[in-house]
Amino acid sequence: MQPDHDTSSSNSYVEFEQVGKSFDGRTMVVSDLDLSIRKGEFLTLLGPSGSGKTTCLMMLAGFETPTLGAIRIDGRSMNQVPPRQRGIGMVFQNYALFPHMSVGDNLSFPLEELVRLEGLEDRRPNQLSGGQQQRVAIARALVFEPNLVLMDEPLGALDRRLREELQYEIRRIHNDLGVTVLYVTHDQNEAMVMSDRVAVFRAGRIEQIAAPEVLYEEPERSFVARFIGENNRLVGQIKTIRNDICDVVVDGRIVRALRVVECGPGDVTTLSIRPERVAIAPKPGLYTNEFDARVEDITFLGDHLRLRVNVCGRSDFIVKIPNVVGHGAVIEGDRVRIGWTPTDCRVLDPDEKEGT
Ligand code: ADP
Ligand code: MG
Repeated sequence: MQPDHDTSSSNSYVEFEQVGKSFDGRTMVVSDLDLSIRKGEFLTLLGPSGSGKTTCLMMLAGFETPTLGAIRIDGRSMNQVPPRQRGIGMVFQNYALFPHMSVGDNLSFPLEELVRLEGLEDRRPNQLSGGQQQRVAIARALVFEPNLVLMDEPLGALDRRLREELQYEIRRIHNDLGVTVLYVTHDQNEAMVMSDRVAVFRAGRIEQIAAPEVLYEEPERSFVARFIGENNRLVGQIKTIRNDICDVVVDGRIVRALRVVECGPGDVTTLSIRPERVAIAPKPGLYTNEFDARVEDITFLGDHLRLRVNVCGRSDFIVKIPNVVGHGAVIEGDRVRIGWTPTDCRVLDPDEKEGT
């Protein structure tokens, strides 16, 4: 069995090494990028618009040249290799099909079955739905059986149901073919559903790269905690640290939290707590962090309830409780005890978005 932290070059199929890109010679839109993609892996670049995702794809495809650093595929430097010789299939958001050709001509390869297009061979793109067009585009990217497929927001133009359907289909195709996929999206759900690993981009840099569940459960940066799923953020100042547990002063109280980033006494920090990790009315003494809170409002969301509570000087603290028997005990305006463990409360870097 391969240890999953092994990123040695023998194990990686695509490598970005200290890659930087500037279009104007002044501002770097991608900086110090080290990224290694394993053979057969489905890796997603996730980040807000303008964070450099497409630029990375374009450099790997050969349509843009890195300003700094090197890109290798299968151990071979791509610096002098033109796009068509890189053996890459590509799918873009816009349906890049040839309008005058039928589906069969667009593919000229029996991939129709793989992407569920049987019976549509003679149609023209304008006779296809958006979802069908994107299926053809995906099939076409696979025609030459590339070892590597790049997809840049391929489902961005589709409505939600179709998007979800195709997410599963792309995953199925990935599993069937064992092809290496580098996928780009700004949609965190899409990234979570599809990927073996996700690289979270921010302003041309990777904030964290990990499996979806690790990004969610163990964010290493405030930006990641905020970008993936929902989190409560408390701002405080570290008082003491012992065995990676910090005593943090938040609004005059001590909150015990797990150290994640390098930090020391006196540092300002953002604490991140997931709403589903907060207990309402816990047995006294069960949690290290227990506080009085006021329930400001309750939203019923079917499978769970969303409580907005006032605690630790914040009125926007969210607690999610599953809709199970007995949940109705809490009503708006109630004063309740809430609690959470130090390990569910992560000491992260000060979040610059705080207060805005
Ligand atoms: P994303 O795909 O994450 O939305 P991009 O890689 O498209 O981000 O863009 C990253 C940054 O690079 C943006 O600020 C964008 O304006 C800039 N950029 C992208 N392509 C070009 C180009 N051809 N010329 C100049 N600037 C560009
Ligand atoms: Mg883009």
